[in-house]
Amino acid sequence: MLSVEEALGAILAHARVTPTESLQLDRGCGRVPAAFRFTAAVDVPPFDNSSMDGFAVRAADAPGELRVVGESSAGAAADVAVAEGTAVRIMTGAPMPRGADAVVPLEAVSERDGVVSVPVAPSGAYLRHAGEDTRRGDVVELAAAPLTPAAIAVLASLGIGAVEARRRPRVAILSTGDELRAPGEPLGAGQIHDANSFSLAAAVAEAGGEAVVLPRAVDDPGVIARVLLGALSEVDLVVASGGVSVGRHDHVRTVIEANGSVDFWRIRVQPGKPLAFGTVRDRPVIGLPGNPVSALVTFEIFVRPLIRAMLGLRGHGRAVIRVVSGSRIGKDRERRAYLRVVARARGDGGYVAESAGGQGSHQLRPLAAANALVIVPEGEEAAEEGRSYDALLTGELA
Ligand code: AMP
Ligand code: MG
Repeated sequence: MLSVEEALGAILAHARVTPTESLQLDRGCGRVPAAFRFTAAVDVPPFDNSSMDGFAVRAADAPGELRVVGESSAGAAADVAVAEGTAVRIMTGAPMPRGADAVVPLEAVSERDGVVSVPVAPSGAYLRHAGEDTRRGDVVELAAAPLTPAAIAVLASLGIGAVEARRRPRVAILSTGDELRAPGEPLGAGQIHDANSFSLAAAVAEAGGEAVVLPRAVDDPGVIARVLLGALSEVDLVVASGGVSVGRHDHVRTVIEANGSVDFWRIRVQPGKPLAFGTVRDRPVIGLPGNPVSALVTFEIFVRPLIRAMLGLRGHGRAVIRVVSGSRIGKDRERRAYLRVVARARGDGGYVAESAGGQGSHQLRPLAAANALVIVPEGEEAAEEGRSYDALLTGELA
């Protein structure tokens, strides 16, 4: 059996970054730039300006009585200079008039008959210098992560209206199984609703990819091969679910093998026993277990990092927090478990994790209730009450 690290390493060895496309900034949130360094073509802010509504003055004139000789408002050059004994009314974001070297906020002065009385010397605050945030020619390095609203604001402030971004990896989702029916369809004997087509497509989108949901395939190698090969040229990766085990009707592995090459692994991970990984026509194909909890958890561990690697990003992109287990949760001794838990802040800086419900690999509601996966190492029989573990934060903290 492979360790999680061995399997993930072998999968990531097949990651190829997607080509780039030019993207207008208003479509940029969550997208991944091709490069994270930008050279500033302008100063930010572009000119000296006031951070308060008030008066632009010469610091040497205050305290004192100053004659108001004009106004500077945002969006235009100041119409007049400040000479000895005078002040210019100024608005937030307006350019500093020539001659002025300080701003006195409105709240600090009194004004009568065109004369402003400044009772104290200006503090030096309230004046924002050109290039104070970024100087023209500076290299601005954004975090190597999907663009956030703040990162987009930085780019906009630099005058950058479009970025080269990685195309979202296109990921085909292929659910296999004779028993599967679409949600909304009535169920006949032995049939169930297909959860994986929907859950995996959503997980692809959450990871930064674009899901292409293929028609469900029955447990027939000819049908599986036809659907898979038909989609292959359109996508960067295929994620199949079901049919990867050793049952008589498990054909995903043989289809990958017949059309490319396959590695079939048993991984020391719980949930998620067997996983098929291979390439067909040079594209990675992953066969996840069909049990819907196993499918989503193995996606989290193995597919999410692959999609991110195709975007040029590292790791799983989740926060890892340290949690104390609030109860004993049993597991398989041989395998590393990812237990479904609800993690809560304890109020003292730490977190406590309670089992989100049954840990069976078919029990979807506890997975949906969970906001974290507690990682319990190989060789241990349980998450023990009162002991600390790493947990992958997959949802919002309760
Ligand atoms: P398999 O990996 O094909 O042996 O399937 C394991 C279990 O997962 C079986 O109980 C299947 O009915 C179930 N299963 C497989 N595919 C799906 C799916 N797309 N949605 C929900 N359950 C599934
Ligand atoms: Mg099956």
